[in-house]
Amino acid sequence: MRIMNVVGARPNFVKIAPLISEMRKCQDISPLLVHTGQHYDEKMSDSFFRDLEIPVPDYNLCVPPGLRVTQVSEIMVRLAPVVMRERPDVVLVVGDVNSTLAAALTAVRSCVPVAHVEAGLRSFDLRMPEEVNRVMTDEVSDLMFVTEPSGVENLLKEGKPPQRIFLVGNVMIDSLKRALRRMEGSAISAVRNALRGTSAAPSLRYAVLTLHRQGLVDDPVLFGKVWKVLEEIGCRVPIIFPVHPRTHLRMRQIGCRRSMADEDRGNFDGIHMIPPMGYLEFLSLQRQAAFVLTDSGGVQEEAPSLGKRVLVMRDVTERPEGIQHGIIKLVGTRQADIVSAVIETLQDEGSRPNPGANPSGE
Ligand code: UDP
Repeated sequence: MRIMNVVGARPNFVKIAPLISEMRKCQDISPLLVHTGQHYDEKMSDSFFRDLEIPVPDYNLCVPPGLRVTQVSEIMVRLAPVVMRERPDVVLVVGDVNSTLAAALTAVRSCVPVAHVEAGLRSFDLRMPEEVNRVMTDEVSDLMFVTEPSGVENLLKEGKPPQRIFLVGNVMIDSLKRALRRMEGSAISAVRNALRGTSAAPSLRYAVLTLHRQGLVDDPVLFGKVWKVLEEIGCRVPIIFPVHPRTHLRMRQIGCRRSMADEDRGNFDGIHMIPPMGYLEFLSLQRQAAFVLTDSGGVQEEAPSLGKRVLVMRDVTERPEGIQHGIIKLVGTRQADIVSAVIETLQDEGSRPNPGANPSGE
């Protein structure tokens, strides 16, 4: 069986790594790997291929950076001839990024079956581009591999045939488990470097922050308000903030005086901004953190498996299981809610969530 795996962005690399590794062990499967180039540089792409031991892609579509509205169509234009040439038995896509949807649409229009890993997750908020990608990808998928029971329920409610839905667990957590075995040494020294010069350094007590959802960082008013809240939190506990390129760009566009210099690090008001970290380094950073503040989908799943409390700065999540188990908390974007959740989390610091209670971890 020829399986064409298509990836494009940071979270995709984390998800595809254990799948490619298993496919390569199986004599009957010949996996192909296509990188769309959606994320393309050392920090957002190359380092992940190294850290996760992903083989060099068979194709790199080198989609131009900076496209927003037309990125899906541009990827389709570049992927279609590759699908025609290779005639895979199935195209496998992961997650909810533009490359996921583009590859699924290209496959279905080329009469190649589509398998979607991380199917069925729904935030029910179509203002999120990721939600549009999720819904549309599942609409054209022949095989839907689901990470948590809510995903199965969602797909069944949408009328998807039960025989095409498989509750299989979470490949991000497979990657995490593999990484934990390898991540000592260099990853830990990278964390020390990240903390150097911050008030977190002596005690190693800090919070980790990631932010990149369009609904938050593309709205200057909301982003400005959230930033003030983060400064307030930074006075209580230093925040280490590896800045996503999208967020960095928005900070520059809105003339944020706290914008991180390209090569430099910025240490402002208890918020220590650094460039995006490699996968192993970032896991190490999370593992030693007091808690994690994020709007990321993947980090919501990872951090509890590292025994960390997670405060999610969103009003809705497509991953409700962690909330039902009380290991992640949706705190929205309002000052009072975020600050009181942080205070509660700091008071509760001694009692760590049990990673075994993380449904994603099983
Ligand atoms: N990640 C990383 N370095 C960072 C920030 C995140 O390696 O500086 C990893 C994180 O461990 C997780 C993945 O990126 O595996 C999550 O990706 P992201 O938050 O970009 O996307 P989302 O999951 O929200 O789609």
